[in-house]
Amino acid sequence: MRASQPLRELISNCSLPTNEARILLAHLLEKHYQLPRSALLSRDDMNLNEQALQEWQSLVSRRASGEPVAYILGKKGFHDIELQVGPGVLIPRPETELLVDIALSEITKLNKPATVLDLGTGSGAIALAIASAAPLASVIATDQSAEALVIAQQNAKALNLTKQLKFLQGNWYGALVQQGQFDVIVSNPPYIANQDPHLTQGDLRFEPSSALTDYGSGLSCLQAILLEAHKFLKPGGLIAVEHGFDQSESVVDLMKIADLIDVQVHLDLAGHSRVASGRKQL
Ligand code: GLN
Repeated sequence: MRASQPLRELISNCSLPTNEARILLAHLLEKHYQLPRSALLSRDDMNLNEQALQEWQSLVSRRASGEPVAYILGKKGFHDIELQVGPGVLIPRPETELLVDIALSEITKLNKPATVLDLGTGSGAIALAIASAAPLASVIATDQSAEALVIAQQNAKALNLTKQLKFLQGNWYGALVQQGQFDVIVSNPPYIANQDPHLTQGDLRFEPSSALTDYGSGLSCLQAILLEAHKFLKPGGLIAVEHGFDQSESVVDLMKIADLIDVQVHLDLAGHSRVASGRKQL
């Protein structure tokens, strides 16, 4: 039998990048020993028991074959909340927090209980982050995927937000049944073009393709959402959508065709135009 190795050696001998090895090991320390992440340092001479060691080897090999860290852990932090995620939903991205912040700043300005629509909610990330930060808002979240809605509903329950949320299944606005008009509409739809090489790289290989690509030019879902927005926005209401780093001009044009006013582009932390917002006339 191989001599057991202390935590510091498990990390230094691991084939994964150190930060990923640390994340996976911290997860096991919590699961098997109820130890906090700081134990990676404070207990770095500790040896894992046989069961934890086997699991370590299995997590490392899953990650080495490309499986996203968020799916291996089954969770991902987003804005001020933590979400359960699995292969049925897109892993929430940090740049999508921009959409949440734009919605929240609008809700604060409205200064009354707002109605919000999140189209294509996936894990529920955007809808739940908004509901969590704006307890008076009521949020409708849609998705075409029944599998995604199950995960989103579990997240709503775990975060104790079920009273503020309603989940509906269907294709964009087609999911709605007489919900009327909204103060704020947000969406992070699939916007990657069919042929984009990113789809065959990194985490994206493991994510549902229907959450990433429209199987066309990348703009068809954005177009469907924007061109019908006026029917579902209250007068003066705001719509904000995430898009690809090179789609800003096209999305701004779509917003103008859709008769939206006060069109603005918003940059993500990497400095890319990532979100566009517009308003229905009063
Ligand atoms: N932002 C994601 C990525 O580039 C794509 C998400 C989406 O298509 N809405 O990986």
